[in-house]
Amino acid sequence: MTALGMASLVHATTPVLVIHGGSGVIKRDMNPAKEKAVRAALTQALQAGYAQLKNGKAAMDAVTAAITVLEDDPNFNAGKGSVFTHDGKNELDAAVMDGYSLKAGSIAAVHRVKNPILLARAVMDKSPHVMLIGDGAEQFAKEAGITLVDPSYFRTEERWQQLQRALKEDKAAKPHADEETAKHFGTVGAVALDTFGHLAAGTSTGGMNDKRYGRVGDSPLIGAGTYANSGCAVSGTGWGEFYIRTVAAHEICMRVTQMRVPLRRAAAEVINQEIPSMGGNGGAIALDADGNVAMPFNTDGMYRGWIGADGAPHVAIYGDEDDGAGDPLPAVGSSSSEEP
Ligand code: ASP
Repeated sequence: MTALGMASLVHATTPVLVIHGGSGVIKRDMNPAKEKAVRAALTQALQAGYAQLKNGKAAMDAVTAAITVLEDDPNFNAGKGSVFTHDGKNELDAAVMDGYSLKAGSIAAVHRVKNPILLARAVMDKSPHVMLIGDGAEQFAKEAGITLVDPSYFRTEERWQQLQRALKEDKAAKPHADEETAKHFGTVGAVALDTFGHLAAGTSTGGMNDKRYGRVGDSPLIGAGTYANSGCAVSGTGWGEFYIRTVAAHEICMRVTQMRVPLRRAAAEVINQEIPSMGGNGGAIALDADGNVAMPFNTDGMYRGWIGADGAPHVAIYGDEDDGAGDPLPAVGSSSSEEP
């Protein structure tokens, strides 16, 4: 082996992958079959993403591999199984960001792209732009060789019934119950640290049930629902308007990289303090360049998981369930005792 080869082996970073499948878990609406299916999908997504990292692939490859699995699974509000707009359509948003190059790609309001995360990545890799929307994004998808499907592909009966309930409430001029709103936080996301020590983040969503007027949430907005730099990567899930107003993902990363706040504290400050104080709710996953993991949320639960040095997937759903990532809010002043 060459001296250079030895050096790169010695300095190889232990890869870590963290994923979420949305923070809209309502405990009493869960059942054993749904729980089982969700845990299996999260495990499969972790394994797919981690295989990339173990093979020396980039963090971005792990992010897109994991998210593709979740987009294809109808249990999550992304890709197949997305919520419906007020007009009865599935309208999808996604974004990726590479922390090393600070390159990003994003798409919004597409109706025919099977895996929106792959289109977001193509925007980053193959276009001079960062964000494409609607028909233009689909035209670009065609040219970039991204798989398009009939819009009916995304439909599930469960999501259709959620829309019907919301439409009834609209008619009765009743505000959607908070729980009904939270129920639709099913966005999926991933953050990864590769063997080169580089970070990446990605998020994919159907947005919020009954959305109208071309509403776009935080997920595809770089800095709001998705952000990565050389020291921190974040993907959010929750009431997007609040994540946009707090520029949540960027805010967490700035606290980590500029203010030197430990990752879990920084993530908890934004997710468990700032957003709820404004009336919002949701969660996020965050990862720093030392491999520290944070998965805070302020709802009943968040579909989540991580995989690190031991290669064993850790998956959790509820708030009172140990996800192995430690206390979300370490004491003020604590610094590097965050290893998961
Ligand atoms: N954040 C997403 C949005 O507002 C919703 C979600 O997390 O499920 O579009």
